[in-house]
Amino acid sequence: MNPHLLPGQPHFHYQGSELHVEQVPLAALARRYGTPLFVYSRASMLSALAAYQRGFAGRKARICYAMKANSSLGILQVFARAGCGFDIVSGGELERVLAAGGKPGDIIFSGVGKTRAEMRRALEVGIGCFNVESEAELEVLSEVARSVGQTAAVSIRVNPDVDPKTHPYISTGLKGNKFGVAHDRVLHAYQRAAELPGLRVAGIDCHIGSQITDSSPYMDAMDRVLDLVESIERAGVRLHHIDFGGGLGIAYHKEQPPEADALWLQLLGRVDERGFGDRELMIEPGRSLVGNAGVCLTEVLYLKPGDQKNFCVVDAAMNDLPRPAMYQAYHAIIPVQQAAREAHTYDVVGPVCESGDWIARDRPLAAQPGEFLAVLSAGAYCMSMASNYNTRGRAAEVLVDGTEAHLIRERESPADVMRMEHLWP
Ligand SMILES: *Cc1c(COP(=O)(O)O)cnc(C)c1O
Repeated sequence: MNPHLLPGQPHFHYQGSELHVEQVPLAALARRYGTPLFVYSRASMLSALAAYQRGFAGRKARICYAMKANSSLGILQVFARAGCGFDIVSGGELERVLAAGGKPGDIIFSGVGKTRAEMRRALEVGIGCFNVESEAELEVLSEVARSVGQTAAVSIRVNPDVDPKTHPYISTGLKGNKFGVAHDRVLHAYQRAAELPGLRVAGIDCHIGSQITDSSPYMDAMDRVLDLVESIERAGVRLHHIDFGGGLGIAYHKEQPPEADALWLQLLGRVDERGFGDRELMIEPGRSLVGNAGVCLTEVLYLKPGDQKNFCVVDAAMNDLPRPAMYQAYHAIIPVQQAAREAHTYDVVGPVCESGDWIARDRPLAAQPGEFLAVLSAGAYCMSMASNYNTRGRAAEVLVDGTEAHLIRERESPADVMRMEHLWP
């Protein structure tokens, strides 16, 4: 078989006509656990992490997995055991990290709308740092910290106003964006943070967007952040760490994002050149650690030929794989068992009652009803965004480690989906 069939997914390969993840044949998992089924490769996650670790070798650096990409406990466990910290965006995510055995001190808390209750809980368990996104939030956090007799470590998320050249819904570092403190307010915000009694300034952070496949927006953002570090320190506020966010893209189709280690070699060169090599560096990668470590297996239900389009109806839908409907995203689709048949062109669609419920358009496929397909690059922003729309239970998830397969999430039953509801008397 062609070893380049799945660029970016080296742990998924055909043995004969059978698609495997590590040493496990996927058809067997689909039959055992049913479909739709998410399957993840532990080795793939660890090798994505290793690229960052190589990039930061010999540095004071911390990698905080941005867990909104995939927050399943079994996935968090892989990263916690590998020594990662976590970037969280809600109180719910905080409880997940604790349940998966993550260290509270290695958690950073991002997000524009933290509630007082979330702040209080994060202080109570002793998280590492709050990434504050507005001047108003500084005031509230200081007040909450004082009320529990603590000081909160803070880093202010700055909006460097660079265009990451990605989809508008996943671009976060531009002026018209809800995230971060505007460039021209940053100095003022730091001066205020330094004088508030409940706060302790720890660092600075930024996150310019997601699925970034070019290194130039990163270089621009780094320069702008370092300019800010200079002016903040000139004003007498010391910054111990620089958190550069996440956002590195993966190959879904023909993208060729830089490798994490090569990108960081370049970025760290700039950090050193400008004299900030002594600071602790932090990053918050999400997609690039898990995106290509997962696939979604789905069964072909019906083939529906038509005048204008042929449809291949599968049992996975937009509630399982929301990225095509949300961002017109591309996911490659390949057969779980290859068959020597003629391929036809299909739109691959799910059973949900929405025209937006499509998974792929105009793809050559030879599959027949009853056979399984693998939707690739489904490790990030799929299961963590899954919903129960159309009262569809969320899919099961399996983590593969070598020859072993661990069920890390059971399929939701209709009873599970209705569990929190009450009939009125
Ligand atoms: C989503 C997010 C990340 C991770 O982004 P990826 O594109 O998945 O790497 C990092 N930091 C913050 C603040 C985020 O909101």
